[in-house]
Amino acid sequence: MICPFCEHRKTRVVDKREGNDVKTIRRRRECLKCGRRFTTFEKIETLDLLVIKKDGRREIFDRAKLRGGIIKSCEKRPVSAGDIEKIVDESEAELRKINASEILSKKIGEMVIKRLKKLDEISYIRFASVYRQFADLSDFEKELSKLSKGLKNK
Ligand SMILES: [Zn+2]
Repeated sequence: MICPFCEHRKTRVVDKREGNDVKTIRRRRECLKCGRRFTTFEKIETLDLLVIKKDGRREIFDRAKLRGGIIKSCEKRPVSAGDIEKIVDESEAELRKINASEILSKKIGEMVIKRLKKLDEISYIRFASVYRQFADLSDFEKELSKLSKGLKNK
């Protein structure tokens, strides 16, 4: 398990308990290098789902990849590793509920976007632009200028 703060590879488990369902194990870990603590939710069963990409190609749903995308969007933003893990967990739970064998990547993007939007607008816009939720660049710029106006008024 890699530390989300300093990327050190050695951590120790300080607490372990079952997650909200029996398929997850929640572990509280401490980094042996920087000493910071974080929580991991380890899945016993993986989600058997094909993601349909924009160009029609399919790939197996990859939780780590989804988390990686969110982490990138939240870079240098006040969003904690725990917040990100929560978004991934909730989106995955939503996917389990749909119980489909295939899903459009856009749909997964929307699940993340609606949660990220409540947390941090900059991260949300970054993530949305990656998932191409904006029809074209002018939509994206409109959203950005709306946001910067909002910040100025604060
Ligand atoms: Zn660390």
